[in-house]
Amino acid sequence: MVIRGTASVKCPGCGTQQDCPLVQTIDIRENAADKQKLLDGELNVLACACGKRTQLAANVLFRQGDLTCQVVPGGEKAMEEAAAAFAASGIGGTRRLVPSLNALVEKVKLLDAGLDDRAIEMTKVLLLASRQSPAGSVSGGELERVLLFDGLDKEAGVIRWVMFDEDGRPERVSSAVAPYEKLAQRPQADSELRVDRAWAVEAVKAMLANAN
Ligand SMILES: [Zn+2]
Repeated sequence: MVIRGTASVKCPGCGTQQDCPLVQTIDIRENAADKQKLLDGELNVLACACGKRTQLAANVLFRQGDLTCQVVPGGEKAMEEAAAAFAASGIGGTRRLVPSLNALVEKVKLLDAGLDDRAIEMTKVLLLASRQSPAGSVSGGELERVLLFDGLDKEAGVIRWVMFDEDGRPERVSSAVAPYEKLAQRPQADSELRVDRAWAVEAVKAMLANAN
């Protein structure tokens, strides 16, 4: 089922009220074009005649293969309601809740690359933690950094990332794929709905505590 609608929104640039098409579900079996729009950053964007482009905050449900991922803007309370709705829906497989379309884009890229998002988020934490001393600690400002998956280069054996500094400037970095693969082999329950930085910091802490 594909849900399309129209939202009446006010352009934040010029204040003009106008209708903008809104996609609220993407099911890859029926709807590959919208997936491409999502990856291109063109989904649910109000492109105003004044030139201002604004991404609309909307619930979007994405389904592909085993993955069901829902975008839930609106903060913690909305997340809790969405988690309850997910539990009641009886949807199986891998289920995720994310706060933004950008977060969904990363999940979709990981799915397409055949990577496990839990092991990827833990890899990010270990990568960021390794940039600071003392070694082995999982804390500090580096862990607040935005680090996004950019691609897997199987031939070179590296994962490519985009890291953003305090001023939001992007920097391309890469890391060996081997530490990720080790993490991906660890048995993990897949009941977690929110696999994000906060989750990964706790998961890495628990892993290090068990290793000691
Ligand atoms: Zn405008």
